[in-house]
Amino acid sequence: MKIHEYQAKELLKKYNIPIQDGVICESENKLESAIQEASRLFNTKNYVIKAQIHAGGRGKGGGVKFCTSAEKAQVEGKKILGMQLVTPQTGPEGQKVRKVMVAQAMDIASEYYVAITLDRSAGRDVIMASTEGGMDIEEVAAHTPEKIIRVWVDPAVGFQPFQARQIAFRLGFEPAIIKQAIPLLMNLYQCYKETDASLAEVNPLIVTTQNQLVALDAKFNFDSNALCRHSDIVAMRDIYEEDPTEVEAGKYNLNYIKLDGNVGCMVNGAGLAMATMDIIKLNGGEPANFLDVGGGANVETVKNGFKIILSDPNVKAVLINIFGGIVRCDRVANGIIEAVKDLDLSVPVVVRLEGTNADLAKSLLENAKLAIIPATSLADAAEKVVQAATGGSN
Ligand code: GDP
Ligand code: MN
Repeated sequence: MKIHEYQAKELLKKYNIPIQDGVICESENKLESAIQEASRLFNTKNYVIKAQIHAGGRGKGGGVKFCTSAEKAQVEGKKILGMQLVTPQTGPEGQKVRKVMVAQAMDIASEYYVAITLDRSAGRDVIMASTEGGMDIEEVAAHTPEKIIRVWVDPAVGFQPFQARQIAFRLGFEPAIIKQAIPLLMNLYQCYKETDASLAEVNPLIVTTQNQLVALDAKFNFDSNALCRHSDIVAMRDIYEEDPTEVEAGKYNLNYIKLDGNVGCMVNGAGLAMATMDIIKLNGGEPANFLDVGGGANVETVKNGFKIILSDPNVKAVLINIFGGIVRCDRVANGIIEAVKDLDLSVPVVVRLEGTNADLAKSLLENAKLAIIPATSLADAAEKVVQAATGGSN
């Protein structure tokens, strides 16, 4: 789960990390008072209007504007609120801006990059830092990887102050900044750990012309499997920023991720779902989604799964691949029959049911006399569904 910059900064504040603060504004008529409040709080006539969307790279898309007066801040705020902001991370359709931060303008001397994430191959958290802050870190990683410092955390002892010092030295900080950097890094790690974050990124971390270390931007991702123990973080969820079909699927406890292809998939078990997507690709097709209906698939789950898959207009054919281990194939077959009758299917559906009561399921589907294409094996199913999706031209 992702959160907005302003929410990430609230977290940082709780962990005593100095931030570029701001006032949040959600509508044009409140802009003036938000700017006044920012002026009072930060004792300034300079502001930065910052679009609040979950994607990064807002500056490049025109979603971050430095303003040298309250009037200019008004003009920019009006422009940014409600705009469809396109950044390198949003995709071409962009994301609608529903909130802006009227931020305290800072005088930047230099920009750095700091992030913490899990290095899966090392099985450890890694702190990454670079003097190339404010830029596209992927670019830095691709062209000048030596400019990214990496320090791994031993899970037995945790992130150590000497490691923070090492990072601060390697970033070339002056003594006055090193003194601020060590607690900042320690606190950032504590925040990352205690919130079960999967990413905590500050880009840029700046040194101001007054020699203060400040988090100018912040981005957090959280491990969804740990959200059950963080109601305060769940409260920060903004479903406007999420894919609507994924939100809908979440309501039914379905594990759904939208993809770009045209073959809809309904599978039980994440492993089988991955294998099904692989074999679709192997046959020249592209999956439209990942959908794991889980072990306890019943009439309702199958129906809801169908609804979700079909709400994607790109779907040209559906493959149902269920292995009846815990779930019985006849129950799934009944779900398919009900769903097909109810939903007015407009695309071909290929079904492969294997396992407990597969024979019973087969005869149920045959007797229902629906336009379902039966398949005998995974390979057969994949071939048939790709053919159906491409109108037989494959
Ligand atoms: P992002 O583009 O979504 O990563 O948004 P950021 O919050 O990182 O802002 C983008 C860039 O705008 C930063 O790297 C800075 O160069 C610039 N910027 C943001 N706030 C300020 C500010 O207070 N003062 C100055 N001088 N530049 C700022
Ligand atoms: Mn940034």
